[in-house]
Amino acid sequence: MERARSTERYDLLIGGERVPPAEGAYVDTVDPATGESFAAVAVAGESDVDRAVGAARAAFPEWRDTDPATRGRTLFRAAERIRAHADELAEIETQDQGKPLSQARSDVLSAARYFEYYAGAADKLEGTSVPVGTGQVDFTVREPYGVSAQITPWNFPGNLFARGVAPALAAGNTAVVKPAPTTPLSTYRLAELCHEAGVPESAVNVVSGGGETGAALTGHEGVDTITFTGSVATGQRVMQAAAAEVTPVTLELGGKNPAIVYPDADLEEAVSWVDRGIFTNAGQVCSAADRAIVHEDHYDEFVERIVERAEAYELAPGDEDPDMGPLNSADHFERVLDYVDVGIAEGATVATGGEALDRDGYFVEPTVLTDVDNDMRVAQEEIFGPVLAVIPYGDDEDPVAIGNDVAYGLVAGVFTNDVRRAHRAAQRLEAGNVYVNKWFGDTNQTPFGGYKRSGIGREKGLAALDSYLQTKNVAVNLDSGAGDDLPGA
Ligand code: NAD
Repeated sequence: MERARSTERYDLLIGGERVPPAEGAYVDTVDPATGESFAAVAVAGESDVDRAVGAARAAFPEWRDTDPATRGRTLFRAAERIRAHADELAEIETQDQGKPLSQARSDVLSAARYFEYYAGAADKLEGTSVPVGTGQVDFTVREPYGVSAQITPWNFPGNLFARGVAPALAAGNTAVVKPAPTTPLSTYRLAELCHEAGVPESAVNVVSGGGETGAALTGHEGVDTITFTGSVATGQRVMQAAAAEVTPVTLELGGKNPAIVYPDADLEEAVSWVDRGIFTNAGQVCSAADRAIVHEDHYDEFVERIVERAEAYELAPGDEDPDMGPLNSADHFERVLDYVDVGIAEGATVATGGEALDRDGYFVEPTVLTDVDNDMRVAQEEIFGPVLAVIPYGDDEDPVAIGNDVAYGLVAGVFTNDVRRAHRAAQRLEAGNVYVNKWFGDTNQTPFGGYKRSGIGREKGLAALDSYLQTKNVAVNLDSGAGDDLPGA
């Protein structure tokens, strides 16, 4: 693929129109494989956010009242358009985010799947009938909130647009999306494709920018529900902002996920899943296999095999579709390398990697840290890079307790051939998703989200629709005349 070298300007997308930001601010977006900027992207200020929320509010009644089957068909057409533009979207994502082209393509196809899946749900959002006796008919209906604010991070930008916007629209909400400042381009293109598919133009709006733009959106009184994906620290700020208007929040935050390798596991299988789990997208995955907790009987062999795999990785610009691309930004690149130094200072051993590549761009070698104790910062804090911490455990230690001993609780994996051991571990692991003998076990149709500091609420699957629907109960008296009901009786 020819590397685009345009310095195209990306304006905001409000009410279907590309509009320059009121204050005229733009920020460069950089190709992480070279460090060179290739586009200037609008930074939305408060008045731009206000316009976008106003557009979404104005579009809400019509979209809410659109026949659910029509809403579903419209989302299905959006899925078709995303599939038809999969190559173009993957190229945009690779240049903006850095990931290998085939991983970007997989993200795009999964984005299409979200639209297909929730298209099918749009006319099945049923309430219940509640048995309360013969004098009253009682039922529930599920209604959209109104304007859904969606704030996404930079690791899976286009995919996470679809993960939030598709269920929000299926449920009858409208949306204002704020992508991360380093990766806004796929979001703009996906929103345009939604419009081309027939989603009303004011029902999906995009306001790019950084933290200030996000804060203007989360604190806006016209926003009815917030879906935020990002770090714990920012998630806490989002919750605080939401408290002012008592706006509901769905938070998908970070992880420090354990992969427990029991002595009876198929070692090669476990190594291959942990390899995929930690090095996909250069470790910039909330559900990465961050900590391998390995029984001491085969610790050395596990390390030997994972090191061999790490050293076989080919690193190159994402558009050459290598095994691993660069990290997304200069700041993040420094942060990941700092963590390697922290690990060394704490007494961990760098079994392989730990260095930046001697070339342009933000490339960090696949890294394996051994002799890691679970109390170390490299075992407790999310690195969000290609850095695996391998933690040994002995017969007198409980690997599930080690796995749970972090502030996070997003995903966890167990590798064992003993079905009882697998189920016992799954019961006790404090995580929203548990994988047995695999990694990345969640799909578009399975609920996904965190325990503990990893978040509130669920994305994906039918469970995600709960973030976009509120329940109304209707009680109809069948008896005439005055009654003697008291509250709560
Ligand atoms: P981040 O928290 O720095 O930023 C996330 C988004 O919030 C960005 O769009 C950012 O501009 C915006 N933002 C920043 N300050 C804000 C504020 N005060 N108010 C509102 N919005 C604000 O996170 P990041 O570095 O972009 O992403 C990495 C994090 O995302 C990691 O912790 C990762 O685990 C997490 N993540 C979680 C999931 C999940 O599903 N659980 C998926 C992907 C990423």
